[in-house]
Amino acid sequence: MSAIHGKCLCEAVQYRITGSLGPIFNCHCSKCRRWHGAAFRTRASIHIDQFQWLSGENQLSRFDSSDNVTRYFCRTCGSPLISTYRDRPQVLGIPLGALEGLTDAQPQAHIFTDNKASWHQITDDLPQYPGWPGNEAAVRKTAD
Ligand SMILES: [Zn+2]
Ligand SMILES: [Zn+2]
Repeated sequence: MSAIHGKCLCEAVQYRITGSLGPIFNCHCSKCRRWHGAAFRTRASIHIDQFQWLSGENQLSRFDSSDNVTRYFCRTCGSPLISTYRDRPQVLGIPLGALEGLTDAQPQAHIFTDNKASWHQITDDLPQYPGWPGNEAAVRKTAD
């Protein structure tokens, strides 16, 4: 099984993902936009068993962006790393921008488009959801 690798900007924090990524969404929520400093965050869900830190775990800082979501980032370079969810403890959120070795991964939807930046236009034909498209579908696909 081929592995996907991810790392932060300063390369202190590195991780490996085995298996295939769960659903990939472009998240337009205001928190993801601020966290990434970008129009949206492209992120995948994976099962925690697929994830392994390779280095730099002691460089992690964390921020609870809501009661449900904790966002981990590199304390040296500030790169977004993983997200964890209190209501879905078996799931991690991963930013695709940090990954290497992706071949056929493609976003499947835009989510939280109610919070989309006014200066950004969605020009593809992917489905758009005003909020989260549903935990049930996401968790089921993550488990595949
Ligand atoms: Zn770093
Ligand atoms: Zn978001």
